[in-house]
Amino acid sequence: MGNTIFSKIINREIPADIVYETDSVLAFRDIKPQAPTHILIIPKIEIPSVRELSGKEHSQLLGDMIDAANAVAKKEKIDQDGFRLVLNCGANAGQEVYHLHIHLLGGRKMNWPPG
Ligand code: AMP
Repeated sequence: MGNTIFSKIINREIPADIVYETDSVLAFRDIKPQAPTHILIIPKIEIPSVRELSGKEHSQLLGDMIDAANAVAKKEKIDQDGFRLVLNCGANAGQEVYHLHIHLLGGRKMNWPPG
């Protein structure tokens, strides 16, 4: 089972630089990093995007993803200087992979607005 490249990473069908894993989430380095630290945090179940999320139904999973982001930020030593979490949803946001993911970006000063 699995529709996207991220499902293949979960199933170890294609390689990835995995930095963190729990029963519910997986985190691995983005193949095209946009910052010195650029890690994707994904749920192990298939949810295409934020559009399919419900705060109530998925509160545990969302909590797990945020906990993972904090744990990875600490591990990567970007927690003190600060970091950015990004969720792209749909075409206008430039979402390319339709398996929910949080981008964890850090290691440099970020610009705002993001463009
Ligand atoms: P988004 O535009 O929010 O859908 O982001 C998808 C991200 O996945 C992009 O930053 C890609 O560089 C990244 N990506 C695509 N394929 C892979 C892969 N095989 N391993 C790691 N990152 C990937």
